Amino acid sequence: MKRAAKSIFSFPLVWVFVAAVVIPGIALCILALRSADRESLYAQRRFESALAAEVGLAAERADEVMRGISQELGEIARYADIGDWRSANPVVGTPFELRGGEISFPAASSGAERDDFLRSFGDFLRSGATLPTYDSVTRIYRGDYDDGLYINEGESSSAPTKRSGVERQRAESMAAADSEVMSEAFSQASSEGFEISARNVAPTAELSKAAPAPVENRHTASNTEVPSAPVPEQLSQTVSRRRSFADVTSESDYGLLPRLSENGLSILFWAKMQGATVGCSLNMGVARDLIAEAIPGVLTDVRVLNVLDENGEPIVESETFPALDWRRPFVAREISPSLPRWEAGAWLVDPGAPAIRARFTRIAVSILAAALFAVMAAGGILVARAVTIETRAAAQKTAFAANVTHELKTPLTSIRLFSELLLSGKQTDESRRREYLRAIAAEVGRLSALVEDVLTFSARGRNYPMSPLDLSDIARDVLGSIEPRLEASGFTVGMSDDGPVPVKGNRAALAQVLTNMLSNAEKYSGDVKEITVSVERREDTAVLSVMDRGIGVEPGISAEIFREFFRGDDSLSAMRSGVGLGLSIARGIAEKHGGSVTYSPREGGGSVFSLFLPLDAANPR
Ligand code: ADP
Repeated sequence: MKRAAKSIFSFPLVWVFVAAVVIPGIALCILALRSADRESLYAQRRFESALAAEVGLAAERADEVMRGISQELGEIARYADIGDWRSANPVVGTPFELRGGEISFPAASSGAERDDFLRSFGDFLRSGATLPTYDSVTRIYRGDYDDGLYINEGESSSAPTKRSGVERQRAESMAAADSEVMSEAFSQASSEGFEISARNVAPTAELSKAAPAPVENRHTASNTEVPSAPVPEQLSQTVSRRRSFADVTSESDYGLLPRLSENGLSILFWAKMQGATVGCSLNMGVARDLIAEAIPGVLTDVRVLNVLDENGEPIVESETFPALDWRRPFVAREISPSLPRWEAGAWLVDPGAPAIRARFTRIAVSILAAALFAVMAAGGILVARAVTIETRAAAQKTAFAANVTHELKTPLTSIRLFSELLLSGKQTDESRRREYLRAIAAEVGRLSALVEDVLTFSARGRNYPMSPLDLSDIARDVLGSIEPRLEASGFTVGMSDDGPVPVKGNRAALAQVLTNMLSNAEKYSGDVKEITVSVERREDTAVLSVMDRGIGVEPGISAEIFREFFRGDDSLSAMRSGVGLGLSIARGIAEKHGGSVTYSPREGGGSVFSLFLPLDAANPR
């Protein structure tokens, strides 16, 4: 019988398992990881678009507020005297009238107000000086869909029907999403003499990043001492060009004209009347409040929605906001040329959250994949082990059956041969006849030993009666009956004992242990035929050892030789007769007696097989 130390990969079932379970499993894990990545990217994008939509709405509302103001003031201009403007609408700052190149103010306005107003708009209104006027770069580029400059938008009867704000926003954002269109638009605008400036903020979300500017994904609270991260430049879609008041009023009947100066944003409303131009500066405080009111749901768990003014300051300020870097919104959009440099934006309450979410999804999927893999690996190992054990057991049982058959056949053949010789009466030499009979007896002895082994093996669950015994006596007895045969085949046999060694046990069973050990010593001896049996007391243990000078046991299999059906595959032992039961029976009997059987290599070559039994203290023979 072969030693069952085959690699598990020699079993086809293992390869089937690898092909059917392990490889698809690994592929699945990789797919799961990749789709988790993609999924978290989609989730991130969805989140960004949702916030972008909110920001778009906020920008649209702010723009609507400005259109509303323009329209209301247009109404007031038509019906009210400039002296009554302020009481008609709180957004009115300093009203004026321009007639024949002269500016006049209602009596109610203070000197300081007038000075302020004249400083901002005096030269522009009176003497044809120019001021920057603002427009959207996409609208300049797509001159086809909107006529005239936004700031002059008004009820010009000749103007075609204006597109709705939403349509305009959509067209603009579609253009803005295309970096090629944008760079073309910018170059067209600059060739038409427009001035291009940088945006006030740098959004951190991928979606709203303008084309080339790489944005550090760093968040710094604006109210701490730490300086803000450098804000990468993005170009503002609001571009400016200097124009005179005459130019501005030539295209429309009324409108708003924003002006950026070191004092911040001021806005002029103007309307053409018969022979004169009336208008007012806007009360920016009131305008800001109107815009702040129009922003939908400023604070949620996730984000802060706000509008930044020309200085990058939020127009809604609240103690409840977390520490935010206003210059680094998550997503942001410029509002419109009516509010140059103003931005609507969304800031994350926890800026790390999307990254954490993405990482969490990845980690969760990785853990799942790892768990799946571990389960698969464990399953694989179990299957492989079960297969190995089963296959080995099956092979050993087949070999056992073959061995038993062989072991029965050989002595039977000899017995038949010798008995037929005797029966034929041809052999008259008495000494030869006795030889034949001895041979028959020896074969019968081998047969009964084998039958004994098989019987003992099949009865291994049963208990036998125990009685006080002397181990030395049993050893002498067994040796006495086997010695002649051993000596006949050239063995020198020796025995030593410590006198009576009392144990409790079953005489026949213990005799069988020794018989098996002696028979092995005989079978597995080579040229040096020497067997020594010793019986000793070691403290409270009785030790019976059988020592030979035979082939010994390979270190790798010294534990396996005690397994049932196991036979060494060494060519020497494979040549010997045997069914692989002797040592397993010996160990089984020893264990039933509360003892054990061990193997150890013998110094100078050979084996030592020892039976250890508890000394029987109650039987001090
Ligand atoms: P069997 O002798 O029928 O093969 P055993 O259970 O008695 O079965 O022994 C198991 C194996 O242990 C043997 O096949 C042999 O390889 C090894 N073995 C047992 N006794 C000895 C010994 N005295 N010297 C060397 N090898 C031995």
